[in-house]
Amino acid sequence: MIIIDGSEGEGGGQVVRNACALSLVTGTPVRIENVRARRSKSGLMRQHVTAIEAACVIGNAECEGLMVGSSALTFRPGKVVPGDYRFAVGTAGSTGLVLQTVLMPLLLADAPSRLVLEGGTHNMLAPPFDFIARSFLPVINRMGPSVSARLVRHGFYPRGGGRIEVDITPAPLRPIDCVVRGAAISVSGAALVAGLPFAIAEREIGKVRKELNWSEREAYIRELPADQGPGNILLLEAEYEHVTEIVSGFGQLGVTAEQVAKRAIGRMRGYLESEAFAGPYLADQLLLPFALAGGGSFTTVKPSQHSLTAADVIAQFLGRRPTFVQQPGGVHLMTLR
Ligand code: ATP
Repeated sequence: MIIIDGSEGEGGGQVVRNACALSLVTGTPVRIENVRARRSKSGLMRQHVTAIEAACVIGNAECEGLMVGSSALTFRPGKVVPGDYRFAVGTAGSTGLVLQTVLMPLLLADAPSRLVLEGGTHNMLAPPFDFIARSFLPVINRMGPSVSARLVRHGFYPRGGGRIEVDITPAPLRPIDCVVRGAAISVSGAALVAGLPFAIAEREIGKVRKELNWSEREAYIRELPADQGPGNILLLEAEYEHVTEIVSGFGQLGVTAEQVAKRAIGRMRGYLESEAFAGPYLADQLLLPFALAGGGSFTTVKPSQHSLTAADVIAQFLGRRPTFVQQPGGVHLMTLR
């Protein structure tokens, strides 16, 4: 059994999700101690419990210590059974983080699966649906499997009620090299607003047009049905021949529309000014599939604490470690050692 100290490195929920995913793929039991010890409210939260429950269901796993507040967890994997599954992440827990937990085991299974995930689709501190569909999954699809995701209904914190559907056709993951972006194709910015004053989106988009010099056609407002709210997110997208980056600004009580826009604009500027293939979030999410493919490479910006921690968890399971080496010009190259 592998023992992981959940307080090391980033010390957040990602450690638990990655460990359960790797446990299912490798068939190795795992015990995680000091779960989320570096978070102000440590231990498992509702959305982590749902993600691990989903891993137990698809992988016939047994789990001890699986409850809200738990700080230690023992996960014993069984056989992964592909099929049709529906998981509801109570309140507005992130559907994207449940997908992160079950995707690798299902795309390496021996038959297709279909997932219906209900909960939040655009949550802070989690990959928004658009990021999953247009930034993350296209890279996965280049590696062999075929995964498509549809957004049926938006779900924002705290109300939730969103729904995504994911079709997974498995295939072995093959190593690929993602070191250049290719030609720039387009940029776009969308301020989504549901059940909140339209002026919030107008102020966000006004700032995007002014600061990034994006046109009215490139930066626009999307008003969603009020019953999908209240919610607001600003999504900024840069599409290249080989990769699409999506950065987000999450509307929050007590944060002005201008501040939301400023954060997202800062992140997009950082990406546009760099030559890296993957932004910081895409990088930490690509480590698992690349490690499972047994090779390949990608360039990224300076690796985040999330990435370094994911690399440690991967090394414990697979005996090979994602390693980042800074290149002349500043980008970091991830390879497996
Ligand atoms: P906590 O931080 O409370 O422990 P958590 O379960 O939300 O819990 P993290 O360990 O912070 O977990 O992991 C969050 C995951 O969501 C990471 O994979 C990160 O790349 C991804 N993520 C966070 N924000 C974004 C974003 N704006 N766009 C894309 N991905 C994101």
